[in-house]
Amino acid sequence: MKTDIKSMLPAEIGAALAEMGEPEYRAKQIFSWLAKGAVSFDEMSNLSKALRGKLDERYFITTPKPVCKQVSEIDGTIKYLWELRDGNAVETVIMRYKHGNTVCISSQVGCRQGCAFCASTIGGLVRDLEPSEMLDEVLFSQINSGIPISNIVLMGIGEPLDNFDNVIRFLELVNHPDGMNIGMRHISLSTCGLTEKFDKLADLNLQLTLSISLHAPDDETRSKIMPANRGRGVEELLDACRLYADRTGRRISFEYAMIDGVNDTVKHAELLAKEAKSVSAHVNLIPLNHVEERPFRPSTPENLKKFVSVLEKEGVNVTVRRKLGSDVDASCGQLRRKLVSGK
Ligand code: SAH
Repeated sequence: MKTDIKSMLPAEIGAALAEMGEPEYRAKQIFSWLAKGAVSFDEMSNLSKALRGKLDERYFITTPKPVCKQVSEIDGTIKYLWELRDGNAVETVIMRYKHGNTVCISSQVGCRQGCAFCASTIGGLVRDLEPSEMLDEVLFSQINSGIPISNIVLMGIGEPLDNFDNVIRFLELVNHPDGMNIGMRHISLSTCGLTEKFDKLADLNLQLTLSISLHAPDDETRSKIMPANRGRGVEELLDACRLYADRTGRRISFEYAMIDGVNDTVKHAELLAKEAKSVSAHVNLIPLNHVEERPFRPSTPENLKKFVSVLEKEGVNVTVRRKLGSDVDASCGQLRRKLVSGK
């Protein structure tokens, strides 16, 4: 059984080299090759042929295949469907913003959180993504599109905190100065609120932005549309957010999908305002995106406007997320895993 070398940090590659009787400093060269998208050891021209051969006997290099690429005619958003080693496939999106090109990556094949409005959870969780596979989403999106990526959001398929160790490892890989070197302040991680993981995340004191998929300010509404709320609850979530913000000094952001007749009344807005202020959170409203299998509709423009004005009147920092890539189903909540047939 060969080992996945792209999930390894330079120090670990170095230790493995030492065991093979090779000089450790080669690790940095190998790591840089991988971060540039090398797909075989043969490409690593500054290594001896003998070492390349030895590496090839022990390790494999993950290389996702782009089985589908769609480009939005409206805003140039690009959506990729990557086939992984085992025939599973996940989606990745590149968004072009003024502040930099952003890649939205998946963290799992499928999702087990069961949010009632989201396409990614249909069919449940198949498996976690490996650190290398998440890195590949960033790396090969950049290589394939020719668009230099400066920001990453973990807002594709899957719940990042449900794949905690692999996600942290991925962050270390993508942030590494000898690798892609993407700064933590350019990375956002979104969670449905697995509060039991917040402390562990705060311990690492990463300078990333934590986004909370709140979507409802009260337990009755939230538990109805987000099973992750059951057994945890909004109060526990807000406490965990306050603690996280205190410990890391980082401002938290709340995502709130506006769903017609579900979470979009003035009462909801007032409660949300109170909660956002208690956490000093920024609120990002997302008009619900259409998912064929789901019964929900986006809030009317009038209700959205009223909702925004309540938040603003309360002094909450609020933005309405621009919808990107809607003609290629690349908007929030529209990504889904696929199985490439014939596998
Ligand atoms: N599991 C993580 C990461 C997914 S991020 C999380 O829940 O945060 C994707 C974001 O899009 C989440 O905020 C999610 O709740 C939101 N979303 C899901 N379905 C949506 C839809 N149909 N319209 C708008 N946003 C949606």
